[in-house]
Amino acid sequence: MRVLLQFPEGLKQEALKYAKIYEEKGIEIIISASPSFGACDLAIDEAKRVNADKLIHFGHLPFLKQPVVEGIEVEYIPYYLDARADVPAKIMGKVKERGYKKISLGTTAQHMHQFKEWVKSIESEGIEVVYKKGNFTFEAGQILGCDAEAVNVESDAVFIVADGLFHLTALSLIDMDRDIYWVHPYNGEIKNGKEIIEQTKTMRKRSLTSAFYGKTFAILVSTKPGQYRLEWARKLKERLERLGKKAHILVANTFNPESLTNFNAFDIYINTACPRLSEDKELFNKPIISEPELSLFLKMLEENQNRE
Ligand code: SF4
Repeated sequence: MRVLLQFPEGLKQEALKYAKIYEEKGIEIIISASPSFGACDLAIDEAKRVNADKLIHFGHLPFLKQPVVEGIEVEYIPYYLDARADVPAKIMGKVKERGYKKISLGTTAQHMHQFKEWVKSIESEGIEVVYKKGNFTFEAGQILGCDAEAVNVESDAVFIVADGLFHLTALSLIDMDRDIYWVHPYNGEIKNGKEIIEQTKTMRKRSLTSAFYGKTFAILVSTKPGQYRLEWARKLKERLERLGKKAHILVANTFNPESLTNFNAFDIYINTACPRLSEDKELFNKPIISEPELSLFLKMLEENQNRE
């Protein structure tokens, strides 16, 4: 049996340890060296190319619960990290201070092994905790950088336990008018998440102003199985062309800012892949617009066209 192992960036240093475990069982191991950023980012093309019987993807929980992707069996092996023991106590401190009775709670794949304990602990103090399964996630309460539906349940306030802003700002995709808190799993700090999300939205709107007068657009389509949105890109291209812009669809597995710059042709990038790509906007050296701000941007262009 031949198996392709795939690790996210933070776990690549563990690759040889795992390879040895499988090799000792008589399994032939090949290791993917491509960058891997999330649950949807599966090395299916590589698995097919090396004729692997199976892909083992480390560090994430299943995306859309798919055991077989394009004919390749996929096994996910999560990597859990313990958050501080006092996360529920920290949340309860804020709940009592603000007098909330019902909260929504969400966290990332790394802490899902503690999630139910947190819920139990908070509920033992008479507070209702609500959450659901997201659009792409495996377990109820789990959030992704592109999917915070798990906490889109009626409540007095939302608490997100995550160590980076990326997962918190996924809430900007949802129209939610209530208190939001960002709980840091390792230092226990609780920050006003709503304020951070509003600041992010304002920054995104500002970047739209500089994109407004761009003429030539590159619509970026990733071939990663969970990010491949060619049909949406084709519709966007037509829509931009109706608005008098030039648009081209560019395809790659992982977009490299330097290779894009070498085209020396595009004023604006439209990202249809993972929203994380836009976090590296300084590297792209040109405005890059992702899903959260795209509809606003198209509306701005349409309003401008109607005025002309
Ligand atoms: S699109 Fe990005 S945020 Fe969503 S699952 Fe894939 S890597 Fe994670």
